[in-house]
Amino acid sequence: MLNSTATKILVDANSNTKQIRGVEFIYKNKKYTVRAKKEVIVSGGAVNSPQLLLLSGIGPRSELQKIAIPVVHDLPGVGKNLHNHVTFYLDFLLKKEKAFNDLDWEVLTEYLLFKKGPMSSTGMSQLTARINTKYADPSGRHPDLQIFFAGYAPKCSKTGEARAPEDPNDINMPKHLTVSPVVLHPKSRGALTLKSRNPLDPPSMVANYLKEPEDVAILIEGIRVIQRLANTTVLKQKYGIEFNKESYGNCEQLHRYDSDAYWDCAVRYYTGAENHQAGSCKMGPASDPMAVVDPELQVHGVQGLRVMDASIMPTLVSGNTHATCVMIAEKGVQFIREKYRPNLPNRFGGNLNNPFPSHGPQKFNYSSIKDPHSAFPNKRPSYPGIPHPIGISPGPPGNQYPPFPNRQYNNYHQYQYPSQKNFSNSSPFINSYGNRQQRYNNQYDIKGQQ
Ligand SMILES: Cc1cc2nc3c(=O)[nH]c(=O)nc-3n(C[C@H](O)[C@H](O)[C@H](O)COP(=O)(O)OP(=O)(O)OC[C@H]3O[C@@H](n4cnc5c(N)ncnc54)[C@H](O)[C@@H]3O)c2cc1C
Repeated sequence: MLNSTATKILVDANSNTKQIRGVEFIYKNKKYTVRAKKEVIVSGGAVNSPQLLLLSGIGPRSELQKIAIPVVHDLPGVGKNLHNHVTFYLDFLLKKEKAFNDLDWEVLTEYLLFKKGPMSSTGMSQLTARINTKYADPSGRHPDLQIFFAGYAPKCSKTGEARAPEDPNDINMPKHLTVSPVVLHPKSRGALTLKSRNPLDPPSMVANYLKEPEDVAILIEGIRVIQRLANTTVLKQKYGIEFNKESYGNCEQLHRYDSDAYWDCAVRYYTGAENHQAGSCKMGPASDPMAVVDPELQVHGVQGLRVMDASIMPTLVSGNTHATCVMIAEKGVQFIREKYRPNLPNRFGGNLNNPFPSHGPQKFNYSSIKDPHSAFPNKRPSYPGIPHPIGISPGPPGNQYPPFPNRQYNNYHQYQYPSQKNFSNSSPFINSYGNRQQRYNNQYDIKGQQ
């Protein structure tokens, strides 16, 4: 129920199997109970999911006993293994670029007419780097350092004038650029526990960022990469990039400036936590005493209880966490379907045993297809492993996409499915590749401009 707070998972602790019974929650200051016939899914995130399990008596026995919560199931890993991506911020000035407010009528017009200009992107933040430092997994497949670029967030022009200076009192003020190294696979682990039995009390979190020296060493590696980047001819000559030296407590008094010891001090003084908390109900086999859920996201030792969110990640992914959380939920739904409705048809007309009945990824013979619509007459075509439910074109050309020689198209982005034509009348954004220009041409009568 919207705007309610789950306060306890009810478990029939007397049965041998510890069967789930329902959930207690608070809605508009009143407590309610809802009964569950089959399962309860906890998706409170890396902070609140372990909190809810602990409030329900599922967690480390000694911690529950300390605050007099009856132990329903002793599960030592609940709230442990909490970790997060950790970062540090380096500020640069672009001396050859004046700081102005990006959002003005000129920029808006450019966007509306041509879908170009500052409003067509998320600015510097759409650029990122992933790097294997000397500490990375030797396979090279799990980069341990990410670099974020940020700066000059779009702001509205104060005067309404195009390219109005950001600070009217300092019209020569340069643009800023923040470049941040991020530790992607931190070794440091924190923990989360309850302060009290009150479900509305926030839990107590100990982050332990940078407790392990290797996490600091990776940040310093990242700082060195960024320094080399800032020293490139193009950034120096074209943008006039300059490090905007800040003071980090007494680091400069204690250590020689720019030595590793100096940056060790600085990153501890000015530690940046990302918002990627994970791991506090980690997935693992029953043989791992610290595992909270099994590989199908079911809580070990409790029947009918699953956790589906960032908390189940045993270790953080090599990047931002949102998409992975969506994937965890998708997999979780699949596990539930597998258990209760294995024959329920999916969106491709198949089921779990045969997801793509007419073109399963393994059996599909690309070369036999001349025209996707003759192959899938009643469905919008979809490519193995790449569902695109709203009919957008399948992305850049590559080996994974079969050529369709009977179709008229210049490249894959311009290729249109018949179904897209219907979408284009209702939304300019859904049909973002196929006939976008056509739509603008019609709307603004600017035929031929691009
Ligand atoms: C400011 C910020 C910026 C971010 N930016 C990015 C980004 O750019 N890219 C990216 O990939 N990731 C980003 N992330 C991370 C990403 O959003 C999270 O990793 C992801 O949302 C976690 O998903 P989740 O399902 O685990 O938890 P959440 O998304 O936190 O969902 C948990 C939900 O459970 C609800 N809830 C909690 N406790 C209870 C309770 N007791 N009863 C009822 N409801 C409850 C919460 O209100 C919430 O709606 C960002 C996170 C933050 C905070």
